[in-house]
Amino acid sequence: MPAVVGTLRLHEWAIDRDTAFMAIDFSLSPELEAIRTKTRDFIQTVVKPIEDAMDESDRKQLIDGIIKMRTEAQRQGLWLPHMPEEWGGMGLGHVELAMVQAEAAKARFGPFAINAQAPDEGNMHTLLHWATEDQKQKYLKPLCEGTARSCFAMTEPEVAGSDPTLIRTNAYQDGDEWVINGHKWFISQARSSKFAILLCRTEEQPEIKQAANSAFIIDLPTDGWNDVREIETMHGGTGHSEIVITDLRVHDSQMLGGRGQGHLLGQYRLGPARLAHCMRWISQAELALDMMVDRSLNRYSHGSLLAEKQGIQWMIADSAIELYQAKLMVLHAAYKIDRKEDFKSEVSMTKHFVANALNRIIDRSIQVHGALGYSTDTPLAHMFQHARWARFADGADEIHMMRTAERTIAAYKDSGSTQAATGGLPI
Ligand SMILES: Cc1cc2nc3c(=O)[nH]c(=O)nc-3n(C[C@H](O)[C@H](O)[C@H](O)COP(=O)(O)OP(=O)(O)OC[C@H]3O[C@@H](n4cnc5c(N)ncnc54)[C@H](O)[C@@H]3O)c2cc1C
Repeated sequence: MPAVVGTLRLHEWAIDRDTAFMAIDFSLSPELEAIRTKTRDFIQTVVKPIEDAMDESDRKQLIDGIIKMRTEAQRQGLWLPHMPEEWGGMGLGHVELAMVQAEAAKARFGPFAINAQAPDEGNMHTLLHWATEDQKQKYLKPLCEGTARSCFAMTEPEVAGSDPTLIRTNAYQDGDEWVINGHKWFISQARSSKFAILLCRTEEQPEIKQAANSAFIIDLPTDGWNDVREIETMHGGTGHSEIVITDLRVHDSQMLGGRGQGHLLGQYRLGPARLAHCMRWISQAELALDMMVDRSLNRYSHGSLLAEKQGIQWMIADSAIELYQAKLMVLHAAYKIDRKEDFKSEVSMTKHFVANALNRIIDRSIQVHGALGYSTDTPLAHMFQHARWARFADGADEIHMMRTAERTIAAYKDSGSTQAATGGLPI
């Protein structure tokens, strides 16, 4: 498979001199259309049937089911869409990835089946960019092969996770080792991980507060890493651990990136990882809208179908408009990442918008379903509970709003126009 199989041709801004007509081509290359269709078929014919047949509470059934999906995904070349070919991946750019992720997320285990699930996906990007060759062989390789899982340990209960410069988990140097003490929580899949990327404070008086932290790769399990509980959340106990770290010793060679670069590494990780979440959320929003329309076409009340009532049509229209915006924003942010342009602003606005649109669309779908939507007979209740975290994790709504306002004001001060802060688009 070629390294880059095709992309939305957003870059082909062609000006026809005679008509002054500006064309933007949103069509997919045949190669990319083939990958999208293949992913869709794989989800429908392999993942969904296994998912529907298995009892997730039975660990053996769960593991067997995932192995079956993954074996077939590898056989079909639908494996690691986000990784370069030399690491066994499909070598897709972010625009292309958006198609594959959105298709994969139509099933709960879809991203898992193609080995593109959080937080491993973000950790793979991080290791690819920051790890030494030895670290890549030891940690990235098994992740890519699907024989290991990993976690990312940043958030702490005592300080605002939104501001990682406040991290208190502390590491001090003792010869060629570091000694770590601290407290983390909401560390997803910690119990099934072979290693953690752990952020700690290593610098007491950094020149700037963003240079206080460093990252370490911690082999798990290990002395001093105490997984005290899995936190029960509003959508059940889903593998987010609270960790008490006591005199954990780690060799200096386990540092990931340079000393004081932990904050930078976290920010680097979050850009593409935030967008990957948005790609998956689009699928969930689309499913909720499909269900909303289907229900409205089948439910009859006060003399007509729900679909014929203006109040319901407005909910459908609002949702369709928001989903359209969400897709365009994701594609444009992905396009900026692919072109190595500064994407911070676009990813931030996109994450904020898609997270909120997702919550609103699922909520409307529940409304149209009435009691059925509130029940667990449809996936909507589970989707609603799951979607709520999107508005504060990976950057809370308010932080993205704050940064967006800062960038907009700065753009105006710099150039007398806010244009650069609204995607820099040529309109
Ligand atoms: C399902 C799930 C999985 C997670 N997985 C992981 C994981 O694997 N690893 C990990 O390290 N963490 C993980 N987290 C934690 C997540 O990263 C944090 O919840 C997030 O960073 C927010 O931090 P916090 O919860 O401490 O909230 P806080 O930082 O305390 O913020 C709470 C609220 O305060 C407001 N706020 C904060 N700062 C500002 C500001 N500057 N201006 C205005 N308002 C503000 C916002 O409304 C925000 O929602 C996970 C969380 C969830 C729910």
